[in-house]
Amino acid sequence: MADELNDMLFHLLWVKDAVFDSSTKAIIPQTIIYKYYQPRYWFFTSQDGTIKRKSKDKLTKEQIQHDFMKAISPSGIIAVYYCIYKNKRVIEYLTTKTFNEFLYKRKIEYDGILQKFVDPYGSKNFALTAIWTPNFCMFEKKENKLDLFNQSFDLYERAMTFEGKEYFVEATPLRGNDIPRKLQENCDSIVSHVSAVSFEKLKIARMVVHFRIDSKMRLWLLCATSLRFSTDAHMLPIDLNAEMGIPKILNPKKLTVDFKNPAILIKSVKCSMCEAMFELDKIAEMDYRVVISLLKDEEIPIIIRNIHPRLKINDYKRLRNHEKFLEKKAQLCFDCFLSLSRNLPSSGVLKSVPRCQSLSGIGPLHPDRLQSRRDRTMSSLARSPVNARTPSTASSRNVFSSRTSKTAGGELILMPLSPV
Ligand SMILES: [Zn+2]
Repeated sequence: MADELNDMLFHLLWVKDAVFDSSTKAIIPQTIIYKYYQPRYWFFTSQDGTIKRKSKDKLTKEQIQHDFMKAISPSGIIAVYYCIYKNKRVIEYLTTKTFNEFLYKRKIEYDGILQKFVDPYGSKNFALTAIWTPNFCMFEKKENKLDLFNQSFDLYERAMTFEGKEYFVEATPLRGNDIPRKLQENCDSIVSHVSAVSFEKLKIARMVVHFRIDSKMRLWLLCATSLRFSTDAHMLPIDLNAEMGIPKILNPKKLTVDFKNPAILIKSVKCSMCEAMFELDKIAEMDYRVVISLLKDEEIPIIIRNIHPRLKINDYKRLRNHEKFLEKKAQLCFDCFLSLSRNLPSSGVLKSVPRCQSLSGIGPLHPDRLQSRRDRTMSSLARSPVNARTPSTASSRNVFSSRTSKTAGGELILMPLSPV
């Protein structure tokens, strides 16, 4: 893969140049780089506008939680986590619940970047993308179509910007002079700073970087999705495709069409039978009572075993007579629900192929009449010359005459032919 997380950019922005005391114009949100399953570096912008790094002893879960949970966004999003999963960049939005889970319960499997979420200016989330080369700079705004702060919409559907599919976002060119000028200055200062702190050894040749303007009109650098140095042995073309994957717990092929009925993208419910994850609207519930009656051959029905893995057989035998237990509900995906419930007598699914019923109609059938008509046609066809067939019966409809005529509407009609 050409581009990974480009976390190196944050290190380069933080490094100070002792000679010229170069510092970049760019400001960054709180950004923690994860390496080897652990938080390793914590960068932030200090009060004076310079990028600083927190000391190693601050890199604790408690401290991260404390700092990230300050001034929570009304969107409910605490942070964004970028990582590489199966050679693909993945972006994950973390809410209060998933953020704490991420910090305390999850085994961080991949190197990544955890970044405090920046609320946008206005009600829709957006990113300003700059494609920078020494000769030109191009800007684009990618704005989400939904209201970021309306939590009835799916988290991802209202949060995605540059990383999202085109049907979630609207790409517009940047108008006016002010913001493009600010973006250009930021990009130039990043490039010159990197060059200065590396004593001209690292020169950015091209880059694709993403920014966001917050409610106080501050321009934040979020990340770089493509970074090329003039010293690269084989300089790959710049990667303009900033699209990132989304965690596999999401179904990206859904979209809110009716605003009163938002689409659900997050697969948050586990099917108690096949144990795969599904969206809430793809789950059906079944009473334990029905489950037990359908799977009565099993010692403990697999569905109940999956929900209560530590349930002992004796406890189960006792519980299955309790009304409260029988009223509990198992959550099943549609496939599992249907394959199970087809065994219910009330499902209407027929056990065997229905026997062919004798034909019925309003009058007596005369197959003999049809047969004799067919015989007559066949024999007349056999007798008549090729060009003079009589298209008069149903069975000879496919035989076209060469003598056709046109109606006013231009359609072809077949002329009845007189026998030769
Ligand atoms: Zn299932």
